[in-house]
Amino acid sequence: MANGESIYWNPILETLPQEKLHALQLKKFRRIVEWAFNNSPFYNRLYKEAGLEPEDIRNFEDVQKVPKINKDMMREVQQHEPFPYGDMLTVPVEEVTTFRQTSGTTGTPVYQACTWQDWEWWAETWCYIFYAQGFRDTDRIFIPFGYNVFVAFWAGHYGAEKLGCEVVPGGVLDTQARILKMQELKCTAFLATPTYILRMADVAKNKLGVDPAKDMNIQKIMGAGEPGASIPTTKKRMEDAWGAKVYDHIGITEVGSWSYECTAQPGGQHVNEAFFLVEIEDIETGEIITEPGKEGKMIITSFDRLAKPAIRFDTKDVIAWADQPCDCGRTFRLIEGGIIGRADDITKVKGVLLAPTAIEEVVRSVAELGNEFEVVVSKKRDVDDILLKIEIVPGKEGEQESIVSRLRDQLRLRTNLGYKIEVHRYGSLPRYELKAKRFKDLRKKGV
Ligand SMILES: [Zn+2]
Repeated sequence: MANGESIYWNPILETLPQEKLHALQLKKFRRIVEWAFNNSPFYNRLYKEAGLEPEDIRNFEDVQKVPKINKDMMREVQQHEPFPYGDMLTVPVEEVTTFRQTSGTTGTPVYQACTWQDWEWWAETWCYIFYAQGFRDTDRIFIPFGYNVFVAFWAGHYGAEKLGCEVVPGGVLDTQARILKMQELKCTAFLATPTYILRMADVAKNKLGVDPAKDMNIQKIMGAGEPGASIPTTKKRMEDAWGAKVYDHIGITEVGSWSYECTAQPGGQHVNEAFFLVEIEDIETGEIITEPGKEGKMIITSFDRLAKPAIRFDTKDVIAWADQPCDCGRTFRLIEGGIIGRADDITKVKGVLLAPTAIEEVVRSVAELGNEFEVVVSKKRDVDDILLKIEIVPGKEGEQESIVSRLRDQLRLRTNLGYKIEVHRYGSLPRYELKAKRFKDLRKKGV
């Protein structure tokens, strides 16, 4: 960094010794529980039924006595007044300044109420992410999406403005026009889902004759919304295609923007522990896991989100603590390799646990394969069957047999499972503009 500039957005909080950080977390946890208990009819009911008073929370063991909440409960409260948020709300509805909602891919959307204070908090938490990834006021950031009721890119937009970056909103335009606008304005960075990061590079090369790595000025890309930027082979594909660094970030609409990769790229993400409490729970026993490397379900609390608090929200995302601190000097703990999967998506196939991210890691490691793929799990005569649809890049079709056999070997090695592999004509599998739907489990109802 030039002129001794700090590498931290908040040099005090991001380097606070763990002991002090934990004391701060406990204080903030108790404060949000008290706020919710006193102001939200939903939380008041929940805690009273559990026989819990906010002052009962004295240490981290007490935190585990606080009842968890989940998405279904958030949906259920929406049946109550005030419309449309329900009685989880802690403020009069007229204090709400922003409506957002979850994407509703897993059922009825959850509505999110933010006051202006909440909205300032969203922007502040995004500044931690941007700053840790080297974004500065000299950056011109392109956001290639039309923002609507979903929170993601809105929060990124406000966070980038707060940091002092110049933000170019790229909604409405189609993919080609977005690429040309980014090129015309010499944008230095953009935010997108990994699926769209790869798709834009594809369109630039094949439709516009533009090589993003040579003909454009992109230096940093932030991936969000899908696990790809933490899957090493997908990250490499994106970095090679754009000649830029790709960093991951994970946020949850109901909770906030709780984690980020830093420029040290430690193979994991920092939890913003000054704003969030992350607990990892053993899926089988329900015990809280503190040792590194052991996978479990994430339970997360947002300390400072006020209108609709998220206290011990059961995310069903599977994560694990990393065993080493990061070279960047931040004391915020790391989770290993980002989100490993959704507890719902990690499914048993032929009796073996399968995470869709493992298939992605293998597919993206084979250079002759295109970026798009699809996995369909089904049951035929009581036997599970996995079909993997792939595309081979133009010019390599002649090597199909050896590519497929190499892929099959690597999949078996990585996932202990056999696959039926179907090669599709290049360009014929579905292309996505936001998040891809690559994994279909036909054994589950309603898919
Ligand atoms: Zn770091």
